[in-house]
Amino acid sequence: MRQAGIVVVGAGLAGAASAYALARRGAGVTLIDRAEGAGQGASFANAGMLTPSMSDPWNAPGVWRDLLRWLGREDAPMLLRLRALPGLSLWGLQFLANSSRSAFERAIALNVRLGLFSIETMDAWRKEAAFDYDGACAGTMKIYRSEAAWREGVAKAETMAQLGVAFRGLDRDAMLAFEPALAPIADELAGAVHFPNDQSGDANKFAVGLSEASAARGVVCRWGETVRRLRLDGGAVTGVVLASGETIPADAVVLATGAYAPALAAQAGVRLPIRPVKGYSITYPAEGLTLPRLPIVDDVLHAALTPLGSRVRVAGTAEFTGFDDRLQPRRIDNLRGLLRQVLPAQAEELERRGGAAWTGFRPMHARGAPAIGRTARPGLYVNAGHGHLGWTLAAGSGEALARLMLGADDSFDLTPFEPRAA
Ligand SMILES: Cc1cc2nc3c(=O)[nH]c(=O)nc-3n(C[C@H](O)[C@H](O)[C@H](O)COP(=O)(O)OP(=O)(O)OC[C@H]3O[C@@H](n4cnc5c(N)ncnc54)[C@H](O)[C@@H]3O)c2cc1C
Repeated sequence: MRQAGIVVVGAGLAGAASAYALARRGAGVTLIDRAEGAGQGASFANAGMLTPSMSDPWNAPGVWRDLLRWLGREDAPMLLRLRALPGLSLWGLQFLANSSRSAFERAIALNVRLGLFSIETMDAWRKEAAFDYDGACAGTMKIYRSEAAWREGVAKAETMAQLGVAFRGLDRDAMLAFEPALAPIADELAGAVHFPNDQSGDANKFAVGLSEASAARGVVCRWGETVRRLRLDGGAVTGVVLASGETIPADAVVLATGAYAPALAAQAGVRLPIRPVKGYSITYPAEGLTLPRLPIVDDVLHAALTPLGSRVRVAGTAEFTGFDDRLQPRRIDNLRGLLRQVLPAQAEELERRGGAAWTGFRPMHARGAPAIGRTARPGLYVNAGHGHLGWTLAAGSGEALARLMLGADDSFDLTPFEPRAA
């Protein structure tokens, strides 16, 4: 695989990590994105957490009950819009079929394994390609409002611990000693769980930094170019054709186009059960304000408040609504509510300064774990479908894929992640 090189389509976290991992092993790479730079899609303003601790897929056993219960409720953590149903039909059935206890546990184990490998890879890359992305290694903390919810959270953490995810259960006093910024809401909280090995950082800055580090290693970055189709030759994918008509030949093509991966893959007869699950964030300038030193997660709301350097971001919630990118005021209000709940003393000042609202599409694979590796079509590889874990799994996914493609070492087994129907 050495004459025409490798084309990576999509420069979000998955594509930028793939390009970097390939380039640092000496491969010739062209990285293409239709946006005017890296990290402009789902990777732009996510919740900023690297959380092997949250490896449980969202299609947990009983998810259908929650979806029915929450139908039409704008304050629901997970909202299914009925008009999106036709586009979800087969995928929706697969999403539900994968919510059996055994499929759920299998996906957790896969995500944890990849998540821990990813954290290890991040640690290595951070040293090697030093750039600022407001990164922090203080862990993440889940907070609970009732004793029963806290005990349940600790029990859940114990099952993750069996897979290698470290945690500490903190009662209210221990929680406050560890994170004094929560003092104003102490009376409302029963306890917390701290995951010390989780990390955080700005995903967009990371994707930009990594693509610049890749360019320094010879990767050709083509921004503002849409890949219109895959070039097929004798049954193999041999390059891509841009909207401009230009053909870029390749020995191999990596599809890292997030929620948009299924359409391009289908041109090569590869079916990827990936659909967009919309989420929101608001980022506030927070200079001079007291902030928590680590992300605070509200598990019930599927939402988090994350300090990012001199900013703070509230992000989360899930909406099944196709590629509708309108900012729904009610969904944004849910995040404002979380801000008021977690940082009541600072919320007013943050709102006065004004936050930047954003929405993005998590690329959700029906099986609850991403598709990474070789497809049945020679020359075509995939790195997509990371759902709510795309930041967590980015570095490990890129590194494992590069090892596979270049026949480097096979110490990380990608077999269970093979792109196939769910
Ligand atoms: C609100 C929210 C909060 C989140 N919080 C977290 C979190 O805390 N931790 C976590 O781990 N994950 C989180 N996620 C998930 C994570 O952000 C995503 O899984 C991740 O960004 C997906 O990265 P990607 O590279 O696969 O896709 P993207 O970032 O969407 O990148 C795909 C790229 O492909 C490009 N593209 C598409 N089609 C074409 C084409 N035809 N030609 C050229 N380019 C093309 C797009 O322009 C885009 O840049 C969150 C997501 C959301 C929405």
